[in-house]
Amino acid sequence: MTTREILVTCALPYANGPIHIGHIVEHVQGDVWVRAMRMAGHTVHFVCADDAHGTSIMLRAEREGITPQQLIDGVWRQHTADLRDFRVAYDHYSSTDSATNRELTYGIWRALEAGGHVESRPVKQLYDPVREMFLPDRFVKGECPVCHSKDQYGDACEVCGSTYTPMDLIEPYSVVSGARPVEKESLHFFVRLADFGELLKAWLEERRAAGGLQSEVVNKLQEWFDAGLRSWDVSRDAPYFGFEIPGQTGKYFYVWVDAPVGYLAAFKELCEGGSKAGLGAGDYARFIHADANGTELIHFIGKDIIYFHTLFWPAMLHGAGLRMPTAVNVHGFLTVDGAKMSKSRGTFINARTWLDHLDADYLRYYLASMLGPTLADIDLDLKAFEERVNSHLVGKWVNIASRCAGFVHRFFDGRLAATLPEAEHARYAAAAEKLSVCAALFEARDYAAAVRAIIEIADEANAYVADKAPWLLAKDEGKRDELHIVCTLALNYFRLLTIWLSPVVPGIASRAFDFLGSPVSRFEDALDPLLGARINAFTPLATRIEPKKIEAMIEASKDSLQPNAAPTASPAPAKPATQAKTAMNESATTATPATTATIAIDDFARLDLRIGKVLGCEHVEGSDKLLRFELDAGELGTRQIFSGIKAAYAEPGKLVGRHVVFIANLAPRKMRFGVSEGMILSAGSGGADLFLLDVDAGAQPGMPVK
Ligand SMILES: [Zn+2]
Repeated sequence: MTTREILVTCALPYANGPIHIGHIVEHVQGDVWVRAMRMAGHTVHFVCADDAHGTSIMLRAEREGITPQQLIDGVWRQHTADLRDFRVAYDHYSSTDSATNRELTYGIWRALEAGGHVESRPVKQLYDPVREMFLPDRFVKGECPVCHSKDQYGDACEVCGSTYTPMDLIEPYSVVSGARPVEKESLHFFVRLADFGELLKAWLEERRAAGGLQSEVVNKLQEWFDAGLRSWDVSRDAPYFGFEIPGQTGKYFYVWVDAPVGYLAAFKELCEGGSKAGLGAGDYARFIHADANGTELIHFIGKDIIYFHTLFWPAMLHGAGLRMPTAVNVHGFLTVDGAKMSKSRGTFINARTWLDHLDADYLRYYLASMLGPTLADIDLDLKAFEERVNSHLVGKWVNIASRCAGFVHRFFDGRLAATLPEAEHARYAAAAEKLSVCAALFEARDYAAAVRAIIEIADEANAYVADKAPWLLAKDEGKRDELHIVCTLALNYFRLLTIWLSPVVPGIASRAFDFLGSPVSRFEDALDPLLGARINAFTPLATRIEPKKIEAMIEASKDSLQPNAAPTASPAPAKPATQAKTAMNESATTATPATTATIAIDDFARLDLRIGKVLGCEHVEGSDKLLRFELDAGELGTRQIFSGIKAAYAEPGKLVGRHVVFIANLAPRKMRFGVSEGMILSAGSGGADLFLLDVDAGAQPGMPVK
């Protein structure tokens, strides 16, 4: 076997929010592949980074009253902890907002300029006159020019599906300030993609033939070629959080320019950091050289960002005289229980929420059992998930060890038999031989087929144990030798399954190898059974999933709604449909007005603000944010309102008797703790920084506030 040297990346998570299980699909797909290729004997480097630039991050930081650097530093810590705890073993996890990335981005840019691939021309774009910034398409909303639905984004209507430009919207408004945008001209820079048309076509066909691109992807790209390659607008005007274009003032690289360069920057940092054995500063140059020197560059991405990775990115690399990707492996989206991830259903599950309730390996196993080499979406069916983990991991795999380990300790001093009779040896060899096909299945990203093959052998092992019934043999002192052989073969079956499952469930596998007393880091070690070795005491390696754990996770995912934070601090409703677009993109889903646009008096009159008197106030069990208020609302009766101000008011009992201001005509909201009938107003930025509003003496419960 020739040893391959491969740099593997996953798409960079966007640094404006937490990692959720939609992201985890890709990181697990990449991580399983990396682990399997290493066990097959290849040298693999695995890097990723946060995608840290763009308008969304700039505006979110502004809203939170912190600098963009503070925002992305905090998110980076969260992302790296989540990925580590999902056992995604990156050699290095960087950020695109790094000095290395700036230097590499500038180098590529200068090469593109020198090659004559850059042009500039004025572009008319919508501009927010209040916030004084140009507005990306997703930051303009208005009435759809086709079906006249209100509040549609500037690029497409979610009601009728029409696509258009923001200037086509009727009554457009800026999502940032609410102001009516005006058209304004600005000089933009473009990369002439058509310069690379023939090169890209040849690259795509060559990669398809070599298995580096899926046919579905190449066919999709063919449509774009047929439509003609338009020049790519790579500049954005200040204010923008990113890298300023060298030689220009107030012009920045669009986040998608420096994001993929982040793959190279992360790898360069890894090479120069000296933290990985066998990798030094010179290796970066060797890897990225135009002739690639026999090394491979493999990207794992979702199907929403094909265009960027198979057109722009290879063109940029080639234009800069660098190597092109060896493969771009594309996967589909994740659905939960057959539908898009949804915050209201509690199926928009953050990585951390999962980890709070369930083992990471359980999700890894389920995802692997669903993942194939195509772009098909995969569904997390929670019932099937529970059954598969309980049946396969606990029932068919771990149980083999738990049924046999005790006998080995009780009768054989914890030692496996030193040899196996010919029949048992042949039996083991046949199973090991059968599973060796999994190396190719992992490499081809057909994890589902690999898992099926492994579970077939698990069934064979369990049938063997059931047939030999070691618990009956143990009762007969004359059958000690036979018992020893049966337990030795059964535990070797267990070890064989562990070796092949280890890329998928590295946490449980690591505990299993501890139990067996010897770790295995190569698939080829599976060919020889473990004989004569001393095993350790058996401790439960994995436990069955209780349905209530899944229910609690779903409930906890609903809790993140934060229905009653102060209006200034509450996030805009996130759109579930955008879950797939969070990696390496610039979605506007978390943008909220940073400054308040003017409104008409009618708008204010629609709010029914009232004085309420606090009759009761208490902590809500199971929530770390909420207080439950009972208000005397005068003529409106009493109201129950949940308010997310617990961090600011440690002793809710002290609030009884005081007056508050609340919105009385907010639609009632059903929460896991009960119905919330309004919203209590407070000032401040959220968390402990919240202050209830008060009213002068004389005001009575139920009085309108005008
Ligand atoms: Zn429409």
